[in-house]
Amino acid sequence: RLYNEVQDLKGNIRVYCRVRPFLSGQNKKQTTIEYIGENGELVVANPSKQGKDSHRSFKFNKVYGLQTTQEEVFLDTQPLIRSVLDGYNVCIFAYGQTGSGKTYTMTGPDASSRKDWGVNYRALNDLFQISQNRRSSFLYEVGVQMVEIYNEQVRDLLQTGGSQKRYPSYIFSQPNGLAVPDASMHPVNSTSDVLELMQIGLANRAVGSTALNERSSRSHSVLTVHVRGTDLETEATLRGSLHLVDLAGSERVDRSEVTGDRLREAQYINKSLSALGDVIFALSQKNGHVPYRNSKLTQVLQSSLGGQAKTLMFVQLNPDADSYSETLSTLKFAERVS
Ligand code: ADP
Ligand code: MG
Repeated sequence: RLYNEVQDLKGNIRVYCRVRPFLSGQNKKQTTIEYIGENGELVVANPSKQGKDSHRSFKFNKVYGLQTTQEEVFLDTQPLIRSVLDGYNVCIFAYGQTGSGKTYTMTGPDASSRKDWGVNYRALNDLFQISQNRRSSFLYEVGVQMVEIYNEQVRDLLQTGGSQKRYPSYIFSQPNGLAVPDASMHPVNSTSDVLELMQIGLANRAVGSTALNERSSRSHSVLTVHVRGTDLETEATLRGSLHLVDLAGSERVDRSEVTGDRLREAQYINKSLSALGDVIFALSQKNGHVPYRNSKLTQVLQSSLGGQAKTLMFVQLNPDADSYSETLSTLKFAERVS
């Protein structure tokens, strides 16, 4: 094993909390963020209360302040990503209310600006660089899938030209259920292949919705990277996979205010996010039964949650005082699993 990670973290679940900066128009003086420590401590304050009772403390594996760069976040994520080349299954997802920076962390604001690249572009770039340079005795093959889960339906975001599907035979034939069923698999050889595919995926995500933001906040998007490495001397092979997940917004929807489609969407999101929380909670408790079957999301992610798999959750927060109640509910979700 080349990339041995220091196992100082409890089990195989890590939780990193990231507070996004204020956007123009937000009042910087009114924040819920009271304190960010160097060892993962976070204190939030209820803006409408005074005194000690108004504060709550949380502890994560890491907490990133408002000025943290994409690069810094990636450096802490890199060992996990590299373990995919050692045959691990890794799941990285971003959780938080709409507007808290999930997409920024996972994808970034704009693929054309390398400096702002999020975890997914950097991860693939890193995997290619290592697989092509540093491990020359290994041959690596990489395939990607990208799906959206909306109202408990899985939709392939990389399906091009009708029903034709492209499966590299080695991945299609694998018996262990790593691949997302019914989604096309695309072999990639370079970061630019990936950029191209992700543009297609993002464009497909927008289809059928009035605004990209609207739809993307109510569906989960899952980018799956499959890696097969062959040792050219012994011909031994190993497989690893990486799931990069931008979850639907976790905000609670007021049932008295929405009806019909919106209510149905909200119920599906609720159901799948709580199913995810239940799975991670069960894993963190190391108790026998892990309820994977309760949602499409946890079914799709099953191979990279539990067992030898490594999981990282980015807990995304909006620092604005107006977001206090959502911030607290996000933190409570995270607290339960960390
Ligand atoms: P979400 O996906 O959770 O709905 P976004 O990632 O779209 O949230 O972020 C909301 C807005 O905040 C976007 O305009 C995004 O560019 C900006 N933003 C989020 N995180 C950061 C950050 N770390 N630095 C700068 N801008 C950010
Ligand atoms: Mg988003």
